[in-house]
Order: sequence, then C-alpha cells, then structure tokens
Amino acid sequence: MEHYPRVYIKKGRDIPLFAGHPWIFSKALQEEYRLPAGELVAVYSATNEPLGIGMYNPKTSIRVRMLARETAVCIDHDFFIRRFSSLDDDKRPLLPPETTGYRLVHGDADYFPGLIVDRYGEVCVFQIHTAGMDRMRNEIIEALRTAFSPRAIVERSDIEARKREGLGVLPVAVHEGSIDGVVPFTENGLHFFADVVDGQKTGFYLDQRNARMRVAGLVRGKSVLNLFSYTGALSVYAARGGAAEIVMVDSSKEALSLAQRHFEANGFSFSARYRCMHGNVFDILPRLIEEQKTYDCVVCDPPAFAKSLESVARAKTAYLSANRQCCMLLREGGILVTSSCSGRLTLDDFSGIIRAAAFQAGRDLHIIDVLGHPYDHTDRLSFAEGRYLKTLIARAVGGNVSSRRFASV
Ligand code: SAH
Repeated sequence: MEHYPRVYIKKGRDIPLFAGHPWIFSKALQEEYRLPAGELVAVYSATNEPLGIGMYNPKTSIRVRMLARETAVCIDHDFFIRRFSSLDDDKRPLLPPETTGYRLVHGDADYFPGLIVDRYGEVCVFQIHTAGMDRMRNEIIEALRTAFSPRAIVERSDIEARKREGLGVLPVAVHEGSIDGVVPFTENGLHFFADVVDGQKTGFYLDQRNARMRVAGLVRGKSVLNLFSYTGALSVYAARGGAAEIVMVDSSKEALSLAQRHFEANGFSFSARYRCMHGNVFDILPRLIEEQKTYDCVVCDPPAFAKSLESVARAKTAYLSANRQCCMLLREGGILVTSSCSGRLTLDDFSGIIRAAAFQAGRDLHIIDVLGHPYDHTDRLSFAEGRYLKTLIARAVGGNVSSRRFASV
C-alpha cells in the first residue's frame, strides 16, 4: 500500500536514480508540485514505474532527496529501526578492531537525506539539516533508543547548512540521558574522547581514520608537524607509531587541551618531544620557515576552505599557500600528508593544487597513498557529489627548504 503523494520524473531523467544517485533536481520533475517543504513523496518514472520514496522541498534546487528504493513502505519508527540496524550490521564488521566510534548514518549516501548519526561508545549523536528529516526527529530518537539502547542521545543541529532548507539553527539538545563532560570511545584500541556538546562537528573527526592509521606506520623515529590538529587524534597514532617528535598546531585552545588528555589516556604525555602550539597556522608557517625548521612529516588538514561555489577560488589560494609552505618545511625525503574536505574540490582539482604547491617549493612529490572516506562514511560511486574528503600522502624528493623562488605567492 502507498501512503504518499506521487511525483513523476521526466523521460530519461530517471537513469541516475536507477544507478543509485539519491537526488532529483527540479528540472527533472514533470511539474512543480504544490507540496510543503519536507513532504514525503512516492517517486515514479515517466512510464509509471515506482522508483522509491523521497523528501520534497520546493525551496531547494534539489527538489527530492531519496529515502527508500521502494514505494510500498511506511516511513515510521519501524522503518528507522530496520534501516539503522541494517546499516549497523553492514558497517560494523568492516571497522578496525577495538573501534567503538564510527558513523552509523552518512546522509544522502546512506539514503538518509540530511541525517548524520555518529556513535561514540554508549552515546549517539545526530545532526539534521533537511526539512524532510526535521519532521522525523521523534522517529529518529525513538529508533536510536530501541535499536541501540544508548546511555545518551544528543542532537547537534547547530549548523548553518540548515538555512539552505529554510530551517533555523538549533541549540545543542540532549534528548535522552545526560552528558557530563566528554564521551569516551576507542579507535583501533586507542582511547579518545568526543566533546559531543561543545566540540566541532559531532565532537570528533571520525572521517580521518584511514589517514591516521596510515600515518602511524610511516613515522617511526621521525619528527611530525601536525597542522590543524584539532584534538590531536592523528598525533596519538603518530606517537603509537613511534614518532620521535610531534608538534601540533591549532587555533582552538579547547581542542589542544583535549589533545593533551588524549595523549595521557594512551600512556603518552606532553613534553619537549610531544607538544602543541596555539595559534593561526598561516602566521606560524612563515615563522617556522624563517627559523629554518624542518620536519620528516608534515600533516595539513585544514577546515573546508571551499564550502560554497563562490569561495572556491579563495580556497584554492589558501590550499596552495599552506601546502607550498608545508613542502618548504619538509626534509629531503620527508612525507607530506595533505587533506581537503571541501566537497567543491575534486581529487583532480586538489592534486593539481598540491602539484603546483610542490613545484613552487622546488619539490617533486612521489605518491605513497591516496585516501578517502572510511567505509562507514559511505562513498557511492554513483554519487560523486557525496565525496568530499581526499588525502594525499607523498614523499618530497628533490630541492630543499632553501628554495624560496615563489615565497611571496
Ligand atoms: N586533523 C583533525 C581535524 C582538523 S579540523 C583531526 O583529524 O582530528 C580543522 C581544525 O583546524 C580545527 O580544529 C580548527 O580549530 C582548526 N583551524 C581552523 N582554522 C585555523 C587556522 N587558521 N589556524 C589554526 N587552526 C585552525
């Protein structure tokens, strides 16, 4: 039985949907439907084939975002329980051992438009940024409670992205249980804390797990400069991997103080070897270059510089400048670990920027690895728009830090 009003796609415009793409743009629909923002709709092809259920929003150019690939289903509390449990069954076996922090729901790529759910040990944190999902808050909370019996359920819908869907930015809410300080969890047996109320995102950058794991195996006996370190998760892996020296740089004092806790929880401590610098990376980099400092490994993982199409040009300049300076700080044969989480930049775009940055610093980069989202941050080949994170790991060969030809760029 069907429960929702029907919308029809134009002939030929349904192919991406068959392939698994979760969006329908306004121009692909046969008409403008008079439906309110967030309405559930049954989606049909031009030849009347049922394609699934989506969420409608007349205010956005992505007119429908898909939620299910069948139409005879009721989007209720049971639907959310079934789908959350099935995602958990799918993702958990692919996590590394001793890992209790992971992404259960990764938005559109998991066919949950505008919903993120991260699990940190016994706590679930969710975030809603579409009008359709905003109507489902009670079902989401109830389903998380039934499926996982968490100690607490926290909502982090304090994000600007909600405005694009005509929604307000909400204060942080604890819907179930209580939160007293940071929430402990493990990743590869290492101990971490998510600041689920005051931290960035849902409290931790779960998406950089692949890079952390790879770096741990590359830095024994080496010096590491970790720029935009946040709470030092990658640095803890570097310490476990036997790094001789680690310097973390971040502009958030809170993040750096949690980094110290992370070191201590894993049997390390801040000292002359492992330390942090509070400040702006763009001020600190020129200073380190001026002081002729060099490192065996430089990590550069800035926030998304290119959040919107308009800011892409500015973002490219920022990536270029930061990475050029990173290359200048690398010893001969040193390793650059550089990331971009800007969805607006493709891997090709980003590789081009890094190539230019290396060239300007007089280095050549030999790729060791190219990494993306870990499996729990679902990456569908049919949905390139959902791919945002890319990390290049490369050895810098040729030239040296005295190459200053382009220092003013
Ligand atoms: N690498 C981290 C995540 C980085 S997120 C991890 O894997 O956990 C980006 C970080 O950059 C945030 O912690 C933010 O506080 C910091 N940041 C943003 N702009 C900065 C700047 N100009 N200088 C220093 N830190 C900055």
